[in-house]
Amino acid sequence: MKRLLLATLLALVAPAALADYPDRPVTIVVPFAAGGPTDKVARDLAEALRKPLGNATIIIENVGGAGGTLGATRVARATNDGYTLLLAHIGISTAPALYRNMQYKVLDDFEFLGMINEVPMTLIGRPSLPANNYAELVKWLEANKGKINLANAGLGSASHLCGLLFQSSVKIDMQTVPYKGTGPAMTDLLGGQVDLMCDQTTNTTTQIEAGKVKAYAVTSSKRLSTPALAKLPTLDESGLKGFNVTIWQGLYAPKGTPKPITEKINAAVRAALKDPDFVKREEALGAVIVNDARLNPAEHKRFVEAEIAKWGPVIKAAGQYAD
Ligand code: ASP
Repeated sequence: MKRLLLATLLALVAPAALADYPDRPVTIVVPFAAGGPTDKVARDLAEALRKPLGNATIIIENVGGAGGTLGATRVARATNDGYTLLLAHIGISTAPALYRNMQYKVLDDFEFLGMINEVPMTLIGRPSLPANNYAELVKWLEANKGKINLANAGLGSASHLCGLLFQSSVKIDMQTVPYKGTGPAMTDLLGGQVDLMCDQTTNTTTQIEAGKVKAYAVTSSKRLSTPALAKLPTLDESGLKGFNVTIWQGLYAPKGTPKPITEKINAAVRAALKDPDFVKREEALGAVIVNDARLNPAEHKRFVEAEIAKWGPVIKAAGQYAD
């Protein structure tokens, strides 16, 4: 009898609760430290999502470490009520090949809420680095073999993947220095504690524009039109034929989040990606807003599945893994 009463009560309460979503703050977990590119996009996105989500309060929670897998674990294990979301990048598709003790299964443990953007990266150096362009950098690398530091945001982060590809392309090994995100890595690069970093334009454009770092090249296959970055050559045209790294970011909820809620969030994401202020801000930082089928959760999932299949063999061949 008691059970029946409870079920009746739930049936009465649940639809109302779904319709009222969100009626308390929503948390977006950023799986990297504050001040970096994922954090930047998450904060901009939170602002753009606020109105379409009925003036919701959106809180950013930074859970950096282990190349983004700690933050993803936090969300995979969170209550599936739509109040804890994850903004993740390409690393979500590379982690399964890199980490032997993953605490979640990417394709099974999340609801896919839609892609957000594509972001190219840049190869930058500490301000005191004597090389002023890519040709000078190559000479400097040759002359300093064994002494070069390359910052990244941990195994499987975009900066790690880009740095790996760069080292194998120039055939020079570098000492990698992992951080919880490229926000703190940028602080050390500006301070001269590390030499080089490959990072998203959403983190580097402002520093490049202000002349605070040495900028050598963009990692995309084509030059960028963003004014602050347009003068930078591609690594491909600088001699590293075929070099092309562009990352993507998407939004996720724990598996089993009720459909009326995931649909509400997806609709809010679509509205946010059309918000002119958001689009302008992201484009000024070199990001390209997704405006295609990948906004559809099923397509988003298919895309991530294809990325996992693409990166797995590449990473395994490079012999990279972590426990
Ligand atoms: N985007 C950075 C990376 O993957 C991490 C971050 O957002 O801080 O290297």
